[in-house]
Amino acid sequence: MLQVSGLTKSFGANTVLHGVDFEVRRGEVVALIGPSGSGKTTVLRSLNGLETPDRGRLEFADGPSVDFTSPVPKATRTQLRDRSAMVFQHHNLFPHRTVLQNVIEGPVHAHKVPKAEAMARAEALLDRVGLSDKRDAFPFQLSGGQQQRVGIVRALALQPSLLLFDEPTSALDSELVGEVLLVLKELAEEGWTMVIVTHELAFARQVADEVLFFDDGVILERGAPKDLFTHPQHVRTRRFIDRIL
Ligand code: ATP
Repeated sequence: MLQVSGLTKSFGANTVLHGVDFEVRRGEVVALIGPSGSGKTTVLRSLNGLETPDRGRLEFADGPSVDFTSPVPKATRTQLRDRSAMVFQHHNLFPHRTVLQNVIEGPVHAHKVPKAEAMARAEALLDRVGLSDKRDAFPFQLSGGQQQRVGIVRALALQPSLLLFDEPTSALDSELVGEVLLVLKELAEEGWTMVIVTHELAFARQVADEVLFFDDGVILERGAPKDLFTHPQHVRTRRFIDRIL
């Protein structure tokens, strides 16, 4: 579904990605793990155009194809942005809008979906994550876990082909992490294609089809979780896993 090749990115003199290659297959969950500052978020943000690599390519099976060596045309950038939806560490909900208004904002304004249809879609999705009774609540009236579930619903409402998660549980108190991970697990079981940056290694081990271990701007090691977590080939992967798991 998506082929990522040769992503290279520098911030000033600091090269943070040194040619990153990987593939995301339809219906698969790819987990990006690795030490802080290794480039995981920069890769994720590059996948939907929030960051522009200096070099490299993104090729979606049914378009668009983006070559970062030359300036990316605006239309291609829009296509790239529309293929995926990102869920951030902090949910970034609009504080003065209700849950329902937050969820329909993107479909109605960016995708021009008729309001009644967007509302029906939003209500069905809220029901699925157990939040239909919160449709008229404001974000401050929800727990952190509920807010993050609304953040996920907001991404789903855009009907993207690819879901991107940037450490979706790292801002939550530990007792709220489980309810968000459960939603992610259900989405994986439903066949959503997802790329997840996470420090929750036990979760990655359970849910991911492939794990990419980032170190210093390269993918040092990759594989099925059962192999990578049980028999890491590199000493740095082993150290990272031992420290966290
Ligand atoms: P973490 O797990 O802490 O989120 P990460 O693996 O996701 O880390 P990135 O956020 O991708 O790492 O950052 C990789 C490197 O790029 C870091 O050294 C970071 O300081 C740098 N970096 C990221 N964004 C910018 C920016 N906008 N300007 C300058 N440097 C940046």
